[in-house]
Amino acid sequence: EVRVRFAPSPTGNLHVGGARTALFNYLFARSKGGKFVLRIEDTDLERSTKESENAVLQDLSWLGLDWDEGPGIGGDYGPYRQSERNALYKKFAEQLLNSGHVYRCFCSNEELEKMKEIAKLKSLPPVYAGKWATATDDEVQEELAKGTPYTYRFRVPKEGTLKIVDLIRGEVSWGLETLGDFVIMRSNGQPVYNFCVTVDDATMAISHVIRAEEHLPNTLRQALIYQALGFPMPHFAHVSLILAPDRSKLSKRHGATSVGQYKEMGYLPQAMVNYLALLGWGDGTPNEFFTLQKLVEAFTIDRVNKSGAIFDSTKLRWMNGQHLRALPPEDLIKLVGERWKVTGILKESEGMFIQEAVELLKDGIDLVTDADKALSNLLLYPLYSTLSSPEGKPVLEDKLYEVATYLLSSHDNGELTLALEEGPDGWKKWVKSFGKSLKRKGKSLFMPLRLLLTGKLHGPDMASSILLLHKAGKYDLVAPQAE
Ligand code: GLU
Repeated sequence: EVRVRFAPSPTGNLHVGGARTALFNYLFARSKGGKFVLRIEDTDLERSTKESENAVLQDLSWLGLDWDEGPGIGGDYGPYRQSERNALYKKFAEQLLNSGHVYRCFCSNEELEKMKEIAKLKSLPPVYAGKWATATDDEVQEELAKGTPYTYRFRVPKEGTLKIVDLIRGEVSWGLETLGDFVIMRSNGQPVYNFCVTVDDATMAISHVIRAEEHLPNTLRQALIYQALGFPMPHFAHVSLILAPDRSKLSKRHGATSVGQYKEMGYLPQAMVNYLALLGWGDGTPNEFFTLQKLVEAFTIDRVNKSGAIFDSTKLRWMNGQHLRALPPEDLIKLVGERWKVTGILKESEGMFIQEAVELLKDGIDLVTDADKALSNLLLYPLYSTLSSPEGKPVLEDKLYEVATYLLSSHDNGELTLALEEGPDGWKKWVKSFGKSLKRKGKSLFMPLRLLLTGKLHGPDMASSILLLHKAGKYDLVAPQAE
């Protein structure tokens, strides 16, 4: 049975890198009909906080990465917080002591420091060279009787190599001669991180460990502990780093890096998920648009890339636009409408206008916050402001000024209003006769007209914009510009 886990340390927010690790685990589990386990790695009691744990859980839920076992839902392999599993670590530490894979080390910190210095002077690797690896039973009993504090130290073979086949990186091997015997339990009884992870993965029957590349060095120690405990080794898959556009490690100075920040900025979870999946994975076709369900169908671990993936916030923004426009129309209207109401651009009662305005403006919106600017652009009365402002004339070229003057008179004598009342056909007729009297057509008619009526050379369809605004009673060429 496939069982994977995401094991965040609750010491901060969920970073985009962590979110991608969680996503790959989720996709792997779902595509294999396996289980996705969530485990909280809160052994670092000083840095772990409940707020951070809650925030991480919330962000995962927001992304739609629901877990099958873990905090909040339990499961057969709990508890799912390391801080609640101490008895288990203790039990396996004793087992390793009894089997001889671990020994008690009574060296004091000063002794260890001295050994390190000597090794450095002799240019030897900093491996444990104390006597306790080979101490006799009597020597041990003597220290125990004296009450000397001790750690549990793992006995590492002095030679040979350890090899794993990583599902992403292929064969990875380490020479054992430079590793040295490492501590798995401190003298205060606190189990050490690598030991906890191994005990947890083994006892939670994790079949595949999919995690960030930076954990690769831990895998060596964890694999040795696996062997010593006699548990079958899981498969390992180490996912590459996420890099900033300058290829350095992605960090805060590159902008928003936590899932929560993107959520606050108005990003859609489905866009986030889609973008994160593409950081180091693709289905081999040019297609980049995936829903979570489609990702589950398409995901295979052998298509995960082993080189670093660049986090491109511009592409993420673009991706959000794709997902925004893929929403069911009523959802998009609700989302953007809410935004307009919250920012006070529109009033509650303007439902019909909201619906049509969203339809008109959606192509120019990638983020829901873009809707504000799009709407205020639409609601601007450029003709009035350009003509009435003292700077108006020089800003407009003479030719444009000519169009503007005609336009204003067509407004003043009621022709334009009449045409707008008639709807699309009336508008078409008006544009035609307007062009005729100015001896302009095509681009030389539409471009200045668009500029004067909408204030922009590009934008949503001009006729629809004007007709919509007129219908909603929001278009008046000579009304003062709303601030
Ligand atoms: N708790 C570790 C972290 O947050 C993950 C350890 C693992 O996946 O083995 O980076």
